[in-house]
This record gives sequence, C-alpha cells and structure tokens, in this order.
Amino acid sequence: MLIIFLGPPGSGKGTQAKIISASLHSKHISTGDMLREVAGSGTSLGNLIAEIMSSGKLVTDDLVNQIVQEILGKAENSANIILDGYPRTLEQAVFLDDIYTAKYLVINFQIDIDKLKQRVSRRFICKACGEIYNNALAPTKIDGVCDKCGSTEFISRADDNENALITRVEAYQQQIAKILKFYQARNNLYNVNADDTVENVAKHILEAVKNH
Ligand code: AMP
Repeated sequence: MLIIFLGPPGSGKGTQAKIISASLHSKHISTGDMLREVAGSGTSLGNLIAEIMSSGKLVTDDLVNQIVQEILGKAENSANIILDGYPRTLEQAVFLDDIYTAKYLVINFQIDIDKLKQRVSRRFICKACGEIYNNALAPTKIDGVCDKCGSTEFISRADDNENALITRVEAYQQQIAKILKFYQARNNLYNVNADDTVENVAKHILEAVKNH
C-alpha cells in the first residue's frame, strides 16, 4: 500500500516515516532527501535546486512529479511505500492520483505552527546515519553522540534557518487546504495529532493503516 505523509516542515514526518517503514517493511521515499542529493551533486541543475531549497520555496511540480513517477514506476503496486513530502501542491496530488491506480492512504500531521518553529530551528541531524534530533524535544542521550550509530558529527539543514522556515510554512499553508479537500473527497484522509509523543503518533498511524 502507498501511504502519503502530509504535514508542515518539522511536524515529524521524517521521524515517523523511519519508524513506520521499519514496522511495515516499507520503502521510505522522501522527495526532500532526494532533492538534497541532487542539490549536492554539483551539476547546474543541482545548484539551481540548492538555491530554491535554501530559500524555502518549492521546486517545480514538473521536476518533482518526474522524480516520483520514476520511483513509483520501478515499484510494484503491491509494495509498501511511504511518500514523505509529496504531494505539496494540488497539481502534484492530481498527478499522483492519475499515475497511481492502486489504493492509497493519506496521513495528515496536524500541529500548531508556533510549535513547529521551535522544533525546526532546534533540529540537528547525524552526519553519518541521518538520525534526526532536536535540542528541546529529542536530544541525544549522551551529549554530542548519536544514539543510533555513535558518530559525533552533526549537521543542521541549510533550509532549517528562520527565514527559509517561514517561507516553507507559508508555501505549505498556501497549498494544504486544497490538497486536504482533494483527499477528503476521496475518503482516504486520516488526521493525526502530531503534537504528541513519537510513540503515540506512530501508534495512531499504524491504527489508521490497519483500519484502511
Ligand atoms: P523536506 O525535506 O520535505 O522539508 O523538503 C525540503 C525542501 O525540498 C522543500 O522546502 C522544497 O524546497 C523541496 N521539496 C521537497 N519536496 C517537494 C515537493 N513535493 N514539491 C516541491 N518542492 C519540494
């Protein structure tokens, strides 16, 4: 089954995608991660994408649609896939609905925007394994050491700075109502309170998947 994670930046989609994909043995596809890879490639397209991403704006629908179509084309319709960070516009949602003919479920991460700002501006990521931490909400157990792999090198994301965050949240708010309406009409939308413990959010998502 395809599971779509919708939610503003910092709402916990990436963290939950890792937990749920491990639990359901599904593939985790993050368009943000894929675009960051292209952005770091040093090509002219990569440099253009890096510039757009660091400003907090959205990359064009055509480019992201093409990336997603390619990945889904390679996967079986019966495969478990978590799509994290896509769709982000109504056009992307319509595109996906056209190319993906099997059943899919949409999980909407609901959270207060002010809380988000706090989460994202304090986020840091293990350079070696990509585990996500947060100084306020989810610090490492031992200061400066990754719980998962023991690395002591961390990075923050270029698009996590305050200005870019505001732009990203605005981009999200501009589009989300239309996307939610689209999925409400298809009866495949499930709302999750993302302002809860990581364990509880994961529990609710797994319940939704089971009931779908
Ligand atoms: P994320 O890691 O999902 O927060 O994405 C980081 C950045 O990548 C976003 O702020 C956008 O610039 C870009 N991006 C990721 N997914 C999409 C998408 N579906 N459509 C357009 N831009 C995207």
